[in-house]
Amino acid sequence: MAKQQIELDLLIIGAGPAGLTAAIYATRSKLNAVILEEELVGGQIRGSYSIENYPGFESISGADLSDKIQAHAVSLGAQINDLGKIVSLSLSNEEKIIETDDVIYRPKAVIIATGATPRRLPVPEEANLHGKAIHYCELCDGPLYGNKDLVVVGGGNSALQAAIFLTKYARNITIIHQFDYFQGAKATQEQLHQNKNVNTIWNSEIRHVIGEKAIEKIIVENVKTKETSEIKADGIFAYIGYVPKTDLFKDNIKLNQWRYIETDENMETNIKGVFAAGDVRSKTFRQITTAVNDGTIAALAAEKYILEKGDVQHGESILNPNLSLV
Ligand SMILES: Cc1cc2nc3c(=O)[nH]c(=O)nc-3n(C[C@H](O)[C@H](O)[C@H](O)COP(=O)(O)OP(=O)(O)OC[C@H]3O[C@@H](n4cnc5c(N)ncnc54)[C@H](O)[C@@H]3O)c2cc1C
Repeated sequence: MAKQQIELDLLIIGAGPAGLTAAIYATRSKLNAVILEEELVGGQIRGSYSIENYPGFESISGADLSDKIQAHAVSLGAQINDLGKIVSLSLSNEEKIIETDDVIYRPKAVIIATGATPRRLPVPEEANLHGKAIHYCELCDGPLYGNKDLVVVGGGNSALQAAIFLTKYARNITIIHQFDYFQGAKATQEQLHQNKNVNTIWNSEIRHVIGEKAIEKIIVENVKTKETSEIKADGIFAYIGYVPKTDLFKDNIKLNQWRYIETDENMETNIKGVFAAGDVRSKTFRQITTAVNDGTIAALAAEKYILEKGDVQHGESILNPNLSLV
């Protein structure tokens, strides 16, 4: 069956805080816009049990904040297609074509807001133990470890917040960190230190995780002395940084050496009419507030670009109702 062809003003790829914010601004500007989402609407914050630095909310769960931003965007008419995966893409100054399983989109402008994904623990056994004993989402997998011993890897905010959350379930938590200090916020460190069953192995990295279905032992190396030691634990939760989701764009869009998308201050990439927003972009700080900032600027810049190009499609819903879940 021939795919549905859709001409539209703006296609936003990714429905995290950056993409949803871009959709709020675009729909308020009456742009005909669709957001594509390949997993869960809300992005990374869906996996955060408590957010305490988003203005207006002293403390809110990631799931609740995601729902609120999504509801806001949808109430303004944002159209989300969270069924189709992108199967091919061609982006140039003259033409933008994005093809999903069901639809061929021909937007005037594109905002890439595909975010980032957790960096995998660099041990040879990762692929085998992924999801069985090595995890990256404490909200999803923490409850599996009632009264067990856990290792948390990392020393930034994500690692510290995860360790605090996991104290609800685990008997003991050992944090393994490559430096001799935590980079996470002081307030989070203080919260962590209130827990008696958390200890830290400093200046160390995991080299091997021995075990087929479950962990038998973990080999840890002190990066300063090069001495190795063995520890026992039932599960590992790793928070050692993120990898941008840019594979789809690497042939068209200029990336930096770490594969983040380079933009100018208006969030425009090397291709006219293609913008990038949020964690996927080359920048120093990756937070919800910086993602919504980028989404705002990208949508306003995209609107300016479309207006300067010519007609805007002030259309009704352009999605086939069978494609849209939201
Ligand atoms: C556990 C955890 C806790 C955090 N806690 C905080 C906090 O307390 N405060 C704070 O400010 N920040 C926090 N962050 C960081 C914050 O979540 C990110 O900075 C923010 O989510 C970035 O938003 P984004 O929209 O750029 O990207 P993301 O949130 O990564 O969203 C990108 C979206 O794009 C989708 N996508 C990717 N590729 C495609 C594709 N090809 N097609 C369609 N869709 C695609 C993804 O599925 C995802 O939904 C936390 C992050 C994590 C992981």
